[in-house]
Amino acid sequence: MSVLRFKALDEALSRKPVDAQPRAGAISDFFGENVFNRKAMHNSLPENVYRQVVEAMEQGTKIDREIADNVASAMKAWAVTKGATHYTHWFQPLTGLTAEKHESFFDLKNGGTPIEKFEGDQLVQQEPDASSFPSGGIRNTFEARGYTAWDPTSPAFVIGRALCIPTIFVAYTGEALDYKTPLLKALNAVDKAAVGICKYFDKDISKVTATLGWEQEYFLIDSALYHARPDLALTGRTLFGQSSSKGQQLEDHYFGSIPERTMAFMRDFETEALKLGIPVKTRHNEVAPNQFECAPVFEDANLAVDHNQLLMDLMGKVAARHNFKVLLHEKPFAGINGSGKHCNWSLKTNTGINLLSPGRTPRKTLMFLTFFINTIKAVCDYSDLLRASIASAGNDHRLGANEAPPAIISVFIGSYLTEMLEEIEKRVQKKKMTEDEKAELKLDIGKIPMILLDNTDRNRTSPFAFTGDKFEFRALGASANCASAMIVLNTIVAKQLKNFEKEVDELTAGRMKRDEAIFKTLQKYIIESKKIRFDGNNYSEEWLKEAVKRGLSNIQSTPEALGAFVTEKNKKLYSEMEVMSEVELQARYEIEMSNYKLKLEIESRMISDLAINQVIPAAVNYQNSLIANASGLAELLTDKNKNLYEAQLKILEKISSHISAVLESIELMNEASQKANSLIGSNAKSTAYCHKVKPLFEKIRVHVDQLELLVDNSLWPLPKYRELLFSR
Ligand code: ADP
Ligand code: MG
Repeated sequence: MSVLRFKALDEALSRKPVDAQPRAGAISDFFGENVFNRKAMHNSLPENVYRQVVEAMEQGTKIDREIADNVASAMKAWAVTKGATHYTHWFQPLTGLTAEKHESFFDLKNGGTPIEKFEGDQLVQQEPDASSFPSGGIRNTFEARGYTAWDPTSPAFVIGRALCIPTIFVAYTGEALDYKTPLLKALNAVDKAAVGICKYFDKDISKVTATLGWEQEYFLIDSALYHARPDLALTGRTLFGQSSSKGQQLEDHYFGSIPERTMAFMRDFETEALKLGIPVKTRHNEVAPNQFECAPVFEDANLAVDHNQLLMDLMGKVAARHNFKVLLHEKPFAGINGSGKHCNWSLKTNTGINLLSPGRTPRKTLMFLTFFINTIKAVCDYSDLLRASIASAGNDHRLGANEAPPAIISVFIGSYLTEMLEEIEKRVQKKKMTEDEKAELKLDIGKIPMILLDNTDRNRTSPFAFTGDKFEFRALGASANCASAMIVLNTIVAKQLKNFEKEVDELTAGRMKRDEAIFKTLQKYIIESKKIRFDGNNYSEEWLKEAVKRGLSNIQSTPEALGAFVTEKNKKLYSEMEVMSEVELQARYEIEMSNYKLKLEIESRMISDLAINQVIPAAVNYQNSLIANASGLAELLTDKNKNLYEAQLKILEKISSHISAVLESIELMNEASQKANSLIGSNAKSTAYCHKVKPLFEKIRVHVDQLELLVDNSLWPLPKYRELLFSR
């Protein structure tokens, strides 16, 4: 009956670490060797071509066909030396995964001579049949064409035998069907808006780039055990499972020594990542057993997003060599921590200044405060969009569930900066500052850099925390594409900076001195965005109550959260910032709504399959042996030992009642799914799955998990939590 479980366990327990194949020598010797980076380009392109490409990368200028031909030819020659036989446009459709369609360099010339061919046309644009990618109603299947177009700001790379070219993916009619297109637009918007503000402080600043350093959490499970759990394999999470007697209570996994098999895997995937130019730097055990984290050095946001997508893909591939499966689901196991992805974000100028780092002079510090306060104001005004950007079926299990940041968006800045803002708020309230007061204020501001880093105590419960020289958005799910949050964050900050510029300019037009106008406007924002600031424990009951009082929203479910994408206010924001049109936003909303519904639908079918085909048969089997045992005992029955089989009967009864409860709830769940499916529109369907179908998952699970406790261990078909989490 439970052959697979025990076979899998035997297999998992008998594994030896696979030899890691890390590269010898210093990392800097092989870092980026599989990337057609600037160095590779410089080596293989004529100087004038190289310069034009670099200009296109930095300034966003157009690359003409002749240059593209040159680049394509150099790229192909380079890729062939790395063993590539094929090329592919590599893009990020709204499935959340990456997509590629390989074409061979190989071609036949007239007359049948075999050649290797790759020209500008193929580099710049491809036309993959896009009919099976989500489009949210933008295209009909009969108009299946989509275009991919080269993004020169993210360098091409070779994986295996394929040259991968990062591209955007748009519909025939021009609408974005991917994450990269709106991301590039949002980054452009924040660049323009921030440069406008930097001019107040430093005329040399002509470009501002958003930077992103992500931290990726994941679980690592033996592949044999994984395959013995169809729920893990099909839905990414365990739908049943009694918690292990030992879980994370002892907190003995966090930062503990990394097991040997795991270490071999890490060394291998890090080597592969480094060769691809992903600057991975940190690795450690996470809180839950078999949970780990990996983080790189931060990079320009567009590149960092590509690298995170690439890394998630790479981890899976390398894990296979080590007989592991990587779980990126936000909540693979009930009762222990899930996995998130932190996004550390800042803004950097072409002159090398981190705009969120308090400077050494009062002037720089005023610039810091400007960007710092505007970011807080943006988060306050558009917290609904930030919440929507992290919404997914998987993340619903984390947000607000007392582990990850709650579903209430708030900002942590630490006590020192809080006092600082309060000070500014009080001082500038006076109509006119005396010269002494101005000097004093400048002095105070000048003090920030010395004290600041020591004072940003790390509040781990805040979803959006200032950590000394960057903000850390901590509420993303582990499997999310960082672009989803980066599009929102950069767009809302861009919008806020534009508002700021307008207000300051209005005041200076009224003959107010510029610094005073800046102060006055910042002061207004400090007051207006006060409600979003919270330094206390975000997991506490008091905060839930306090947040309600402050009028902050606490949105628990994905369908509700996604609504923010299509409000009038937010549609206006996106089109004003030229990031997404109404049609594109609506499409995204439809896609995410329907994704949510489909995921829940798959889970509900899996629950029903597993319960009926595996769990109940095991329970019945055990009942049969109890019945045989009880009737055997009955034959021995005498007046003296009448109660001989009462215990067995009790277990039989319990099992029967759990079986009926499971079956009853499954019937209700199936009815509810059918009803949900018959509704019209993705909103109605998703909402019904969320509120009518999903609650039954828990009901069924309770009884299945009780059966796991009652049924003979040797009959239980599914690997148990203790086996999944502690077999190494
Ligand atoms: P933790 O949050 O675990 O304490 P660290 O503070 O060490 O981690 O850093 C977290 C991440 O912040 C790293 O990935 C790092 O690259 C990133 N980071 C540091 N500075 C910046 C910056 N200016 N912009 C974006 N990310 C940054
Ligand atoms: Mg972090």
